[in-house]
Amino acid sequence: MKKENIMVPKPRSAFLSVQCEKCGEKAIVFSHTTTNINCKSCGELLAERSGGLANIYGKVLGALDE
Ligand SMILES: [Zn+2]
Repeated sequence: MKKENIMVPKPRSAFLSVQCEKCGEKAIVFSHTTTNINCKSCGELLAERSGGLANIYGKVLGALDE
């Protein structure tokens, strides 16, 4: 009996275009960032590391594909 290898799709990581809800500044945030990302303009927290997919606090405008 052979065990079949089932490919588990990894959660896709992506670069996200996030807009600060406070001042409207846009930033590029890695979806699995390992550091907290703050708005360059006003310092508002945009993304918080969570060990996996980051918690995004700004408005996600879209993903930048590859
Ligand atoms: Zn801001």
